[in-house]
This record gives sequence, structure tokens and C-alpha cells, in this order.
Amino acid sequence: MSRTAILEQFLHLPTIMVVYALGTLVVAIISLGIWWHDRSNKASAMLGLASVAGIVGAVLHGLRLVVPFWLSTGLGFPIAFAGIGLFWSAFAVFENRRPNYLMAFAGALLSLAIYPLPLFQDSTVFRAVFAAVIFGTYNGLAAWEVYRGGRREPLPSRALACGINLGHALLWLARIPFALFVAPPVDAQEHYALWFVALSLLSALSNMFGMFSLAMLARDRSERRYRIAAETDALTGLDNRRSFIAKTEAMLARPGGPSAMLLCDLDHFKAVNDTDGHLAGDRVLVAFSELLRRHMPENAVVARFGGEEFACLLPGAGLEQARTVADAFREAVGRQAIPFEGRTLSVTVSIGVAVKGERIAPLDLLLASADTMLYLAKAEGRNCVRAMQLPGALAASAGRGGASDQAGAVAGRTLHSRPA
Ligand code: GH3
Ligand code: MG
Ligand code: MG
Repeated sequence: MSRTAILEQFLHLPTIMVVYALGTLVVAIISLGIWWHDRSNKASAMLGLASVAGIVGAVLHGLRLVVPFWLSTGLGFPIAFAGIGLFWSAFAVFENRRPNYLMAFAGALLSLAIYPLPLFQDSTVFRAVFAAVIFGTYNGLAAWEVYRGGRREPLPSRALACGINLGHALLWLARIPFALFVAPPVDAQEHYALWFVALSLLSALSNMFGMFSLAMLARDRSERRYRIAAETDALTGLDNRRSFIAKTEAMLARPGGPSAMLLCDLDHFKAVNDTDGHLAGDRVLVAFSELLRRHMPENAVVARFGGEEFACLLPGAGLEQARTVADAFREAVGRQAIPFEGRTLSVTVSIGVAVKGERIAPLDLLLASADTMLYLAKAEGRNCVRAMQLPGALAASAGRGGASDQAGAVAGRTLHSRPA
């Protein structure tokens, strides 16, 4: 038996197409099943339809020696092209973009338009090149969708999904030089060229991977959403206490320069709720959070600690710098006019600050110290900042502003700042 004959036994195109069609059928059933349970999952519906069209197109074309040409190719081609157009649309929908149906069906429409041309009817090489361009373009577009979505929503499997679709596009385009310069895909005796069979096998595999890449992206997305929901405060969008503790604990465990912990608590906030209603209170919390985020430096970790209490870690800030930042923020809060249902709301904030020096300080101690300072700020009239330095300070940042020992159980130095 010749080498080619042995290879042909392994690479038997009709068998490959049957396996491909059955695999795609499984994807179609799963995708449409997912959509059936969750009608908002339009990408899954689109992938299901794409798979159905892909199967019908492949089966029709596979039957080309049995059924008339107008059916196998005249209809089989446009249906398969509609399938790949919908496959691209599934990625577009996944990226929350509206599918462009004209573009999605452009390949199918073009195929119908050129069907009467003698070149299309007579030349298998032309048809192979034409199909390669159409399929390659849509696979390339799917890769582009995945790539550009990464700027908005980074997901771990984006690179893989983009690579799979791009690889599949290149696999399609590789058919062009083979068809033009090596051999036509099918010879006069209806034998498939070996390159055609081998590339069809790789294409069928890539197609499966392409479909599963969408499922991987969907899994990454839901994981990302759960993670963000678990780390974020729903009202203000700031980190929550759990996330703040995880981030700052890791930062404070590393040896380094000073760091300042700010604990902010809105003054008489209960009165806002009692006088203007809970919605007004919520509006104030959101406005306060936005100001806090804008006001604090880029490297600050900012969180809603609970209720009307907020925490902020300023890495690298010594006592003097932390006090200045906290006091400027306190003044900004007092100046902020918050519009609500035709009225203007305003609040003030008390801030407790604890600063650690060169030495590593545990988060608990820093928080407890800042809390003590916050308590002091409340006790001494509110709308003010009270700050203290934990032992182990840089000499430069201690001892200014009338410091005195205040913290009771917490050893350190306090620094007062009263509203003007
Ligand atoms: P102080 O100056 O001593 O801090 O007084 P305060 O009124 O701010 O403190 P208190 O702890 O007595 O009241 C806090 C209020 O914050 C009570 C609670 O109803 C309100 N609150 C907590 N979380 C929310 C929220 O998510 N939305 C609204 N609108 N109110 C909240
Ligand atoms: Mg309060
Ligand atoms: Mg409070």
C-alpha cells in the first residue's frame, strides 16, 4: 500500500466531517440548553444557532456527490457562511455589543450573489479560495472581538480564546496557497487532496476549541463578577472591609517606609436619615465615597468599612503628610454641597489617623490606634482630625503641632487639628 493510501485511510474526510458534525451538534444542544434556562444569555443562543447552521452547511456540502449542486453548494455554502457569521456575532454579543446582522450574513449573501458565475460553478480552486477568505475573515473578526474586549474587562482566558480564533483564521487562509500552488482540493476523480483533508481535520478541531473558548470566557466572567461582588460595597462601589483588610494586611507585612491609616466617620449621620430619609442618607454616602476616592492619592487603599465609616491606607505617608491630607479632605467634605430632590445636603466628617514608622506594624494595632483617635475626634467636638504616631517613627515626622500623649491604651503621639 502506498504512503498516500495509508494516510488517506487515517485522514478520511467523510469520517472527519461526521465527527465534526456530531461534535458541533453536542455544542449546539448545550448552547441552546443554556439559553433555554437563561433567556438573557444571548451569546449562548447565537452560538447554538451558529452550530446548527454549521452542521446543516457541512452535511449539505458533504453530500455533494449525492445531492444536486444547487443544494450542496448553492445552499450549503451560504448556510455554512451564515453559521460562521453567527459564530462571530456570538463573540460580539458576549462583549455586550449589538450584533451587526448585515455584516454577519454578508458572506452568505455574497455567496448567493456569485453562485450563477461560471467561475464559481466550474472551479473548485475558486470555491476553496472563496470559502477560505470568508471563514478566515469571520474567525479573525471573532479574535478581534475577544482582544478588544480585554481593555474593558480583563479575563484570564482572553489570550487563549483570541489565539484559538486567530489560529483558526490563519488555518483557513493557509488553504489559499495550497489550492493555488499545490493541488486543487478535489481532483477530476473526486479524490480529495491530502492537504485539504489535513487542514479540514485541523479546522474541525479549531472550531471545537473556538466554541469552547467562548464557554471559558463566560466562566471567567462569572468568576470575575462574583469576586468583584465579594470585594466591593454595593452602594458606593468602594472596596468593602474584607477586601480592605486583605489588601492592607499584605502591604503592611512588607518592610518599608511609613504608612498612615485614616478612619473617617460621618458626623450625626443618623440625623440625615431621620430628617431627609434613608435615600438621602444613601446619596450622601455615595457623594462622600466619590470625594474620598478623588481626594486620596492614586496608591491609597480606600474602603467603606461599614455603615457611615470609611477607611483609607496611605502608603508612604508620615504623620505630617497624613494629617495634611486628612485635614484637607475634612474641609472638602464640609464644603461639598450634595444635591438631592431639589434640596442641598451637607455633612461633616471626623477622622482618626494612626501612622506607623519604619517598623512593621500589624494592621490590628494600626486600626485600633486610628479608632482611638477617631473616638477622640468625636469626643472633642467632631468635624476635626486627631492623629497619632506609633513608636518607631522617622524623627522628621514626629513632634510637631503641639503633640501630647493621648491615646490611653495605645502608646504614641497625637496631633490635633481643629476646624478653622
Ligand atoms: P456620630 O457623629 O457619633 O458618628 O453620630 P452618627 O449619627 O453618625 O452615628 P450613629 O452610629 O448613631 O448612626 C449611624 C447611622 O448610619 C445609623 C444607620 O442607620 C446609618 N446607616 C448605616 N448604614 C447606612 C446606609 O447604608 N444607608 C443609610 N442611609 N444609612 C445608613
Ligand atoms: Mg457617624
Ligand atoms: Mg459610625
